[in-house]
Amino acid sequence: MIGDPRVLRAGLQSALQLLFPPQCISCGDPTVSDFGLCGVCWRQTPFITGLVCDRCGTPLPGEEEGRAEYCDDCLTVARPWERGRSALLYRDNARKLVLALKHGDRLDLARPAGGWLHRAARPLLRDGMLIAPVPLHWTRLVRRRFNQSALLSKALAREAGLDHCPDLLLRTRRTQSQDGRDRDGRFANVAGAIRVHPRRRDRMVGRHLLLVDDVMTSGATLAGAAEACIAAGAASVSVVTLARVAKDA
Ligand SMILES: [Zn+2]
Ligand SMILES: [Zn+2]
Repeated sequence: MIGDPRVLRAGLQSALQLLFPPQCISCGDPTVSDFGLCGVCWRQTPFITGLVCDRCGTPLPGEEEGRAEYCDDCLTVARPWERGRSALLYRDNARKLVLALKHGDRLDLARPAGGWLHRAARPLLRDGMLIAPVPLHWTRLVRRRFNQSALLSKALAREAGLDHCPDLLLRTRRTQSQDGRDRDGRFANVAGAIRVHPRRRDRMVGRHLLLVDDVMTSGATLAGAAEACIAAGAASVSVVTLARVAKDA
């Protein structure tokens, strides 16, 4: 059917591929498919595989044996969420990609990142789960014009075929940067700064939530967001981040 928009779109896509052959999303070299990395960049991008901490997704030594294992941090720090995963280690090419997305130079990275998040989050996904981003304070949102975590959560929701609520959470207080703070300082800085949007609460009561952020360092921001969701009546909260700062990485 020539008038079918899907046919038109497919035709347009192949015409565009002739004009613009697929390129590596990191270095721009030719690749076999759209929205992927070339072989060299793939090897320089530390995807997390193998045994991971079931709470934060950090890699652990040893083999998967079908039971949940936890890292030292998650055994000592309160984690109000249930389970967590991360797609990448925050270093090398992964750090470069995360920063390019965060600073708005490469918003197109959200789409491939959505695929990586989907793969990492697969063990956590449940039917009817609601996906929501960790919020930015509105003053920061005005300055930056986008929330990179919301771009990621939207891409993930699309990949996973799950509901997305981009403004489920609000930052009620403008928190200072987490950079340069120790772990206790990071937790104190965000305590009580995040709450559920009063007009979105109905969407989340009794549901399993998956919170999305770009980077997990101490986990303080995710803890604040998860606590707010549990207090507002979520059935459970899990978290997924694009990159995890790991101690020995
Ligand atoms: Zn490349
Ligand atoms: Zn952990």
